[in-house]
Amino acid sequence: MRYRLGPTLITAPEIRARVQELAGMISLDYAGRDLLLICVLKGAAIFWADLCRTLRIPCQSDFVAMESYGAATSPLSEPRFTKPADVALADRDILIVEDIIDTGHTSARLRELLRARSPRSLATCSLLDKAERRQVATPIEYCGFVIPNAFVVGYGLDYAQQYRHLPHIAVLERIPEA
Ligand code: 5GP
Repeated sequence: MRYRLGPTLITAPEIRARVQELAGMISLDYAGRDLLLICVLKGAAIFWADLCRTLRIPCQSDFVAMESYGAATSPLSEPRFTKPADVALADRDILIVEDIIDTGHTSARLRELLRARSPRSLATCSLLDKAERRQVATPIEYCGFVIPNAFVVGYGLDYAQQYRHLPHIAVLERIPEA
């Protein structure tokens, strides 16, 4: 199976405008609180970098990485940390920054793992939400865009580590066999 970059789903100016809106909401909601952004590597890195630089309030950041597709393919292997948070989470106001929520398994498990470390509050900000693919309910307090069921790349999201650098979100297309 071979793939190529397909049509643009969300343009760079659309992403920029939505990041501004999200940062505005988060800045209001977390004013005077102890905000810790938890960026989920690698896909959310570019979103996190733009979002945290647009916030109008102080924040700290840490990074986690999860093995994602385990739970989607086998109920026996739940998503787990390949890199846990480094900083203490107890009594912090944690905002998880994610690239995309698809089946919901990864985000639901991540919230469970972080909740076990006794934060004062826990919320999720995801750039993209493939809502129609959801298998496990998981809250998204700040959502960038709800998108249809397609495999997307760009603005941090990859296919085989490619396309993360694109400034927009595009659909990955299968090349028809000759
Ligand atoms: P979930 O556990 O919600 O099914 O999966 C979430 C993870 O799957 C995301 O963090 C991302 O790594 C990957 N993923 C799901 N859909 C897409 C997609 O359309 N494009 C890319 N690049 N990754 C995706």
